[in-house]
Amino acid sequence: MTSSTVARTPAPATPDTPLRTWGGTHSWQPARRVAPRDEGELGTVVAGAAADGLRVRAMGAGHSFTAAAVTDGVHVGLDHLSGIEAVTPQADGTSLVTVRAGTRLHHLNRLLAALGLAMRNLGDIDRQSVAGAISTGTHGTGARLGGLATQVRGVRVVGADGVVRSASDAAAPGSPERELFEVARLGLGVAGVLSAVTLEVVPAFWLRAQEEPWPLDRVLEGLDEYVDGNDHAEFYWFPGTRRALTKRNNRATADEVEGWAAGRAGARGVVRTAGARARALLDEEVLSNGVFEVANRLAFAAPGIVPRLNAVSARALGAKTYLAPSADVFVTRRRVRFVEMEYALPRAALRPVLDDLDAWLRASGEPVPFPVEVRFAAADDVWLSTAHGRETAYVAVHQYAPMPYQRYFSAAEQIFAAAGGRPHWGKMHTRTAEYLADHYPLADVARVRAAVDPDGVFRNDYTDTVLGTADSSTD
Ligand SMILES: Cc1cc2nc3c(=O)[nH]c(=O)nc-3n(C[C@H](O)[C@H](O)[C@H](O)COP(=O)(O)OP(=O)(O)OC[C@H]3O[C@@H](n4cnc5c(N)ncnc54)[C@H](O)[C@@H]3O)c2cc1C
Repeated sequence: MTSSTVARTPAPATPDTPLRTWGGTHSWQPARRVAPRDEGELGTVVAGAAADGLRVRAMGAGHSFTAAAVTDGVHVGLDHLSGIEAVTPQADGTSLVTVRAGTRLHHLNRLLAALGLAMRNLGDIDRQSVAGAISTGTHGTGARLGGLATQVRGVRVVGADGVVRSASDAAAPGSPERELFEVARLGLGVAGVLSAVTLEVVPAFWLRAQEEPWPLDRVLEGLDEYVDGNDHAEFYWFPGTRRALTKRNNRATADEVEGWAAGRAGARGVVRTAGARARALLDEEVLSNGVFEVANRLAFAAPGIVPRLNAVSARALGAKTYLAPSADVFVTRRRVRFVEMEYALPRAALRPVLDDLDAWLRASGEPVPFPVEVRFAAADDVWLSTAHGRETAYVAVHQYAPMPYQRYFSAAEQIFAAAGGRPHWGKMHTRTAEYLADHYPLADVARVRAAVDPDGVFRNDYTDTVLGTADSSTD
């Protein structure tokens, strides 16, 4: 069953209440629900389900907007498989950290901080599970950085026979182990249920966050400098305006962090910033939370006022600079329920795509009280990564959950697809394997699936749609 208009906070799931996604885009009732307490029990329940002829789907935090986690078979909840198993320091200063697959990112961030470690890059929330986040290609921003799956060095994955297999990037290219690794680290769960993930993490670091409203044209005219000149650059553009909120996060120097701790001006003139951090939290209210909820309710009741609301929001957000531990800067709170579509574009296509989107929004008068979010990533070599083989700009369109989104998303998707866009695997889209085969090595993925899951235990309707069935050639 699919619903696009439910916006309430989900009630805790009991065996009788349907499962549902965070955005209210899908709800479903699996045949069986299991929550194994450890890896051994996970193997037993997966093998038992397969023996009963049922399909198996793990779910993390249910934060995908697509039907990626939906199943009419066995739903595997992984909340008990949480925490760090092992930490191995590397000669280059990084560490390999093996994490149980159900660990939520906010929990992981706390555990890493206690060890003096941190994820190199993160998305903009931390509610997801590690396995769910990597399986859909969750990413943050940074022209020299990849998404979370690029930080994965190894996996343990439970097959339909209940056997736990390890696979890592140390295996020889082209070997069965290496290919299993490729599909397991970003593959919507089609290689089996991940029980543990080994991540490469870095020593803990602080970021200097600079947030400033700019004219959109200033961002676009100096785009390369803006994107390449910062560790993590992104911006939010307010539809119907030519204004953007820019966000640039760069590693803080030791001097700056010391200056923060001592309560004096930092080496680069960054003043003690408790006020700025408070201002940032206030702006989160305008952009993502309480004030934003009120604005969206007004927009829902009177769509005609959206252009004025956007103009006010674009001006209400102030300039600020603050220092904070990396995870605190990367992550924001998102209390307003929305639906989202995001496409990965060749970076060079960003400007014409935004021009087309702007033209459509102006011509249609579509009320869109959410800013358009633009982020960046380096090219990578992960088979199913949306940044596979090309420097990428991500453009995300959102709509307040109770408001109609279909016309807006459909127009945006046509613009994105015409520019060679690739949809985020966890966000709304209508692409199928036929389109996606031009962007990904789907025949290689099918070969691996046929080898590790010949009976299709780990398929669901969504994977059939976007990857094809393991025995179907998409070439
Ligand atoms: C408010 C909000 C903010 C977001 N921000 C970002 C962002 O900044 N950047 C970004 O890229 N995305 C973002 N997303 C999308 C989100 O990161 C992805 O959809 C992610 O997959 C959600 O993680 P999850 O743990 O909820 O996974 P789920 O949605 O529960 O599952 C996702 C997929 O992973 C599979 N899976 C889960 N656990 C396992 C396992 N143990 N083994 C095998 N397969 C498994 C599921 O079967 C499913 O196919 C956001 C989503 C929301 C709702």
